[in-house]
Amino acid sequence: MALVQEGTVSHVWPLGTTVDERGVLQLGGCDALELAREFGTPAYIVVEDDLRTRARAFLDAFERHAADYEVHVASKSFPSSPVLRVLAEEGLACDVAGGGELAIALRAGFEPGRIHLHGNAKTERELREALHAGIGDIVIDNFDEIDALERLIPHGSHQRVLIRVAPGVSPDTHPKISTGGPNTKFGFSTHDAPEAIRRLQASDRFDLDGLHMHIGSQILDIAPFRPALEAMARLGEFRTWNLGGGLGVAYTSEQSAPSIEDYVKNKVSLVEELIGPGHRVADEPGRALVAHCCVTLYTVQSVKRNVATWVAVDGGMSDNLRPMLYGARYEAHVVGRPGGGTVCHLAGKHCESGDVLVHDADLADPRPGDVIATPVTGAYGHSMANNYNGGLRPPIVFVKDGDAREVVRRETYDDLLVRDA
Ligand SMILES: *Cc1c(COP(=O)(O)O)cnc(C)c1O
Repeated sequence: MALVQEGTVSHVWPLGTTVDERGVLQLGGCDALELAREFGTPAYIVVEDDLRTRARAFLDAFERHAADYEVHVASKSFPSSPVLRVLAEEGLACDVAGGGELAIALRAGFEPGRIHLHGNAKTERELREALHAGIGDIVIDNFDEIDALERLIPHGSHQRVLIRVAPGVSPDTHPKISTGGPNTKFGFSTHDAPEAIRRLQASDRFDLDGLHMHIGSQILDIAPFRPALEAMARLGEFRTWNLGGGLGVAYTSEQSAPSIEDYVKNKVSLVEELIGPGHRVADEPGRALVAHCCVTLYTVQSVKRNVATWVAVDGGMSDNLRPMLYGARYEAHVVGRPGGGTVCHLAGKHCESGDVLVHDADLADPRPGDVIATPVTGAYGHSMANNYNGGLRPPIVFVKDGDAREVVRRETYDDLLVRDA
């Protein structure tokens, strides 16, 4: 797959990406080779305009189709305060899945009342922190959590909550990121939900605002939202219907994904049809907001030929775990050589044979010292980054109108040792 086809780059690259006359990728108006030189590799390069544009696309689509709505970024998809700050500025609310993400979201500047807490095993400490911060909804996952919260909410005050229900529907996605089927660790079954609703409505500690579902991630066929909401609709009448996130994205140039507009329109019209008019529709996009804004840059360290050709770079499963966790596909390009021609495995530097970023990548004559770019790494890249082999987690660099600014620095060896007694 060549980087440039018919004079333009494919839809997997951040908005505004071009290739200059030497064949060098330009991200947010910045030269990718210069970015690699200035900030080192591996590096997450975030095109700020792409991030803002996708946030606006969600808000504009809801504005067109729904009278009452709220769009929450699922912070786990890119839990970095500079990234989340951009989304807060654009007017999104925020979901967190624990105390750590709550701290990041507060730092990013979200109003506490527009932060919502998820989780199937919230600790007492996390529930206390959420109550103390005065967050919006706590999304109740199980009966034990109702007991714990009831003990923690002071007499005379009450907490707004949603109930997470697993509607018994599995979208066509990888089993590891399918979350709404009948045998899942998330939420109440449709069988148990009525009892949870009764308990929350009977207690003066809770203000039950509505129901929540999240059926899975990287959803490329939006049809399963209908049977899922049908199952939820039988549970009663509520103000807020939160249909979770899950909109998939194209990771390779051959792939395509539903548009934000079609996804939003479908969800809003399902609520109107199956529940009725006058409800608040909430959505929780993660991947579809943040995946496309980011390109990871690496440097080739070695090229080896045995049965296949192995091109090894200075990152891998420490900065992008998705290929190893669930076989996620990416594409890769040599910066400055926009064609292809060498079919090879783009391998990471870690001590596992499974540490391969892209199987059967098509690179143009890769050599040591080349800079490699992999697009669509914004979602769950930084979030699942780790220090395997003592690796230093990469910096995050914002690019916009030709200016580059490091918003998260690269880790140092001191960072690796800072917690040691
Ligand atoms: C992960 C998650 C999301 C976001 O999913 P994406 O596929 O990234 O859009 C939304 N809601 C909940 C509850 C989640 O766990």
